Amino acid sequence: MASSPKEYNVYKSVERQFNKAAEKMGLDPDVRAILSKTNTETVVNFPVEMDNGEVRMFTGYRVQHNNVLGPYKGGLRFHPEVDINEVRALASWMTWKSAINEIPFGGAKGGITFDPAEVSFRELEHISRRFTYALGNVIGPEYDIPAPDVNTNAQIMAWILDTYLLMQPTHERARCMHVVTGKPIESGGSLGRDRATGQGVVYCIEQWATDNKFDLKGSTYFVQGFGNVGSWTAKLMKPHGAKMVAVADATGNFVCPDGADPDELIAYMDKQARERDELRKARQEDKIRALGPIGVKGYPGLKEVDKATFLATKADIFVPAALENQITNETAKTLNVRLVAEGANGPTDPDGDEILWSRKIDVIPDILCNSGGVIVSYFEWLQNKRSEYWKVSDVVSKLKEKIVGDEQQPGGYLRVRDAAKEFNVDWRTAAYVVALRRLEKVYKERGIWP
Ligand code: GLU
Repeated sequence: MASSPKEYNVYKSVERQFNKAAEKMGLDPDVRAILSKTNTETVVNFPVEMDNGEVRMFTGYRVQHNNVLGPYKGGLRFHPEVDINEVRALASWMTWKSAINEIPFGGAKGGITFDPAEVSFRELEHISRRFTYALGNVIGPEYDIPAPDVNTNAQIMAWILDTYLLMQPTHERARCMHVVTGKPIESGGSLGRDRATGQGVVYCIEQWATDNKFDLKGSTYFVQGFGNVGSWTAKLMKPHGAKMVAVADATGNFVCPDGADPDELIAYMDKQARERDELRKARQEDKIRALGPIGVKGYPGLKEVDKATFLATKADIFVPAALENQITNETAKTLNVRLVAEGANGPTDPDGDEILWSRKIDVIPDILCNSGGVIVSYFEWLQNKRSEYWKVSDVVSKLKEKIVGDEQQPGGYLRVRDAAKEFNVDWRTAAYVVALRRLEKVYKERGIWP
C-alpha cells in the first residue's frame, strides 16, 4: 500500500521553524547545511498474511535525522496519514528535544501507513513483528531505539523487543533489552514511562503558572486528544484544582462547561477496553470493529460540537495532544486561551505561530512541552543497560530536573525561557536556538571528517 502525499507537508513547517531560528542566532552555515537534511531514510515494503488468508503489503518508514549527540531515538506511529514528510518532520523534532533537555540521544522516527483500528489484534502483532524484521539492523540498542507514538503502545513495544531479540545470536539477547523503550514493566519497561509525556506537560504548565503568577486552582483548560498524553495531562491537572471544560478525540469534539472528571473519563474508556478484550478472547473481532474506536463519546455531560466551536472554547489553557496542523492561519485567530501547552508534535504551523505571537498567547512548544516521553525513555534505557529498577518517585523527580530544573541547574524549560529573553523571540524559536546552539558546539568541537 503506497502512501499518498498529503496536501499539508509538515516538513515544510519544520524547515520554516528551523530557518527562522538559524537566522536569529546566526547559526554556522556548515552546521545549518548538515542539520537541514536527514542522515538516512529507510522505506520498507513488507507482506503480512491477514486473518482471511490474503497477503497485504504494508509500507513502513524509519528516518534518522541526526546522531551527533547519541544514538537515534524516537517513536513509531501507526496511522493512515503516515508519509515520508511527516516522518522526516517528527525525526528532526526528536533531535531538538534531546538537545534541549541534554539527553544523549539523536533524533529518529518511524511508522507504518495503515489504520490499526481496521485490523485484528493478531494482525496487529504480525504487522509489528514483520516491520521489525524488515527494519533489521536499522534499529539497535546502541544505534536507534524506537518507542511508542500515535496508536502504538507498550504491547507493541513488547512484540518489537521480542522479534528483535529473536533475530540476535542467542548469547547477545540479554544485553539488547534497551533496543526499544516504552515497554511493559515486566518486559523491562520503566515505572513512570506511561505518564511521562503528560507529566512533563504538567511540569511545564506549573512552571509557567509560577512565572506568570497564575493560580491553577480554579483555572480552566481543554484537551484535544485523550490518548496517553491527553489523558495523563488531564489526570495530573486534577490535583491542581483545574477544570477540564472541553475534550476531543477520534470519537468527536465535546464541550463540558461544568467540567469533566478526568479519572471518571479514563475509567469510562478502560471499561470499553475491557469489553473489547473479552470479545477478543471470544475471537469476535468483527464485533470489536463494529464498536468503532474507544473514546470519550457517550460519557454523560459531554455535548458534541463541531471542531471550530471546540477550538474556540474559552479557557485559560489549551493542550493539543493529538496530531499536527491544528492551530493554523484560520484557527489561531479563534483560540480563546492564555496558554497553548503542546502535548502533540507539530500542532501549530508557522502561520498559526505568528498569529499566536501577535495575539500574545503564550506557547510552550512541543519540542520542550512533550519531551517528558523521551526523557523517561532515556531513564528506561539506562535502567536496562545497568539492570536496575528505579522507583517511580525517583523517575518523576529526575524528569522534573531535566525538563524544568532550577536556577542552579537549569533544565529544558529554564533554558528555553532564558533564550526567549536573550533573543527576544517566541518560545518555539527559542527552543530551536537552545537545541541548535548545543549541536553547533558539538560540530565545532568534533569537526567534519576528513
Ligand atoms: N513518541 C514520543 C515523542 O514523540 C516519545 C519518543 C521516545 O520516547 O523515544 O517524543
